[in-house]
Amino acid sequence: MSLDCIFCKIAGGEIQAKEVYRDDDVVAIADVNPQAPAHLLVMPRKHYADLTALYAAGAGATAAKLFEVAAKVGREHGARGFRLVANTGPEGGQTVDHVHVHVLAGRHMAWPPG
Ligand code: AMP
Ligand code: ZN
Repeated sequence: MSLDCIFCKIAGGEIQAKEVYRDDDVVAIADVNPQAPAHLLVMPRKHYADLTALYAAGAGATAAKLFEVAAKVGREHGARGFRLVANTGPEGGQTVDHVHVHVLAGRHMAWPPG
């Protein structure tokens, strides 16, 4: 738990979010600023700043769990497909320093991204 972390507060129930999934390890919520008709964020309840911090902590099993839940909610919200994104670090476009995977669905995803 990181005291100033908004996703820790959401995972801890201190700040409300539209939850679409929760278990002992992982929470998935709707993004407040959706970039697609379905835009979900899958995050561990435990705080890791980003993907590299998660692997540095030896928590690869948590990364696997994030992908498992992302695939589950992706299939539920994107019958015709979905995209997973993990912005990492400043040049990766990360703005919230609690590791999370974006699940985008409901429209055609262009490639390459901007
Ligand atoms: P990133 O830029 O990859 O770190 O993504 C952070 C995402 O969190 C952005 O898409 C924001 O719209 C989203 N976000 C920030 N605050 C909240 C919140 N309180 N509830 C839901 N999504 C949020
Ligand atoms: Zn956090």
